[in-house]
Amino acid sequence: MRIAVVGVQGDVEEHIIATKKAMDAEGLKGEVIPVRKQGVVPDSDGIIIPGGESTTISRLIFREGIAEEILALANNDVPVMGTCAGLITLAKHGDEEVKKTGQKLLRLMDVQVKRNAFGRQRESFEVPLEVKNIGIYPAVFIRAPAIVGVGKEVEVLATFEDFVVGARQDNIISFAFHPELTDDLRIHRYFLAMCKTASRQ
Ligand code: GLN
Repeated sequence: MRIAVVGVQGDVEEHIIATKKAMDAEGLKGEVIPVRKQGVVPDSDGIIIPGGESTTISRLIFREGIAEEILALANNDVPVMGTCAGLITLAKHGDEEVKKTGQKLLRLMDVQVKRNAFGRQRESFEVPLEVKNIGIYPAVFIRAPAIVGVGKEVEVLATFEDFVVGARQDNIISFAFHPELTDDLRIHRYFLAMCKTASRQ
């Protein structure tokens, strides 16, 4: 199994480490590789887009031709997981800020996102959250976005206050929080299980 972690900016190393540990835990053999240029994404069984600064991540993946490669695989049922800034990058609809800055989105998940949804007072916090198919999960939010609108193809996986903070649409999943920053591997294991199923078909 080969998992590509978009590595242009953000918590790349943390995702690589968590994914490797999750692979071991699932008894899967394979590699987890950072993506900084074209040519790495093809042949992957899964793609992770980490947290970081979504404007930077978007700009670099579109400039380097990585975005087209992600779109090609995603449209071919390869699983993609986005966390925090990665959730923004995967969304179909942004907010005013996204429009104003002309930030390009991959538009793979039919959701509307709001950047920095929890405001300045609550830059970062951790809460136990009920995540569908996973259970209570320690969710770490850092200047997190939230989903403020979902299309009918989208399954809500987690909510917090008035917001959707975890969602799945077929082979695409995203979370507003950072599963790579805890020792709890359940979300990475869930994603790898999706990749394993998809690669068998
Ligand atoms: N606030 C960042 C953005 O809008 C996301 C923060 C994160 O990924 N931790 O891109």
